[in-house]
Amino acid sequence: MNLILLDPSEVKGAYAYLTDTRRITHLREVHRACVGDYYTVGLQGGKMGKAQLTELHETQATFTLENLNELPPPPLPVHLVLALPRPRMLARTLEHVTALGVKNITLLHSKRVEKSYWQSPELRTEKIHHHLVLGLEQARDTQLPNVALCKGFRPFLEEQLPELLKDRRGLVAHPGMPNACPRNIDGNVLLFVGPEGGFIPWEVEKLLEAGCEGMHLGPRILRVETAVTALLSRLF
Ligand code: SAM
Repeated sequence: MNLILLDPSEVKGAYAYLTDTRRITHLREVHRACVGDYYTVGLQGGKMGKAQLTELHETQATFTLENLNELPPPPLPVHLVLALPRPRMLARTLEHVTALGVKNITLLHSKRVEKSYWQSPELRTEKIHHHLVLGLEQARDTQLPNVALCKGFRPFLEEQLPELLKDRRGLVAHPGMPNACPRNIDGNVLLFVGPEGGFIPWEVEKLLEAGCEGMHLGPRILRVETAVTALLSRLF
């Protein structure tokens, strides 16, 4: 926890009050927090700065906020379309991509996504929110990503893709494509990452027909969470 991300409901005037066990335990056990210590805090959706810990009890920590005038880091110019991975992989991937600065994520169904994944508790709003918050706390950022769920590949192709591609360069990460993933690119990107079994040929064909470019990351087949991290680092 490199940032204490404050929900607006936790702030009253110049004070912030934390009452959740996760952060209080982290402050006590990992930071070995003492009254008087300073921490980096940020208002969800707003600015960041320093705060002094003024009270620490079993069930509440109180901070006095100082100047919160620091902007969060800039977002990455990417909309990530991620074929829904298995729940544990989803949790880790959401944390990584949030820490890396992705602000728009679509979780998409595709042929090789297990249908049961859509029933997972990991897809509940509060669970997704939790992983996004962990990513923001890690990276010192305050802007929550938008996460949309899209349970049909064909409806996505027909109803959403043309609009998304109007002002973005579509890139499909798929092993075996002739071109390598570009480096340090300018402009907005729509980045597709496939499921653990990969996109099926028909899906790749449809994405390419719609105007996306296929690309690869070399001969090593990476797990989704590793592939996403490698792709974002290389693209930006
Ligand atoms: N057996 C699958 C295949 O060959 O497509 C592997 C899928 S991989 C575990 C999951 C996703 O990560 C892929 O669909 C792709 O989007 C991305 N990925 C992993 N390694 C990659 C590579 N070397 N080049 C391009 N994309 C890769």
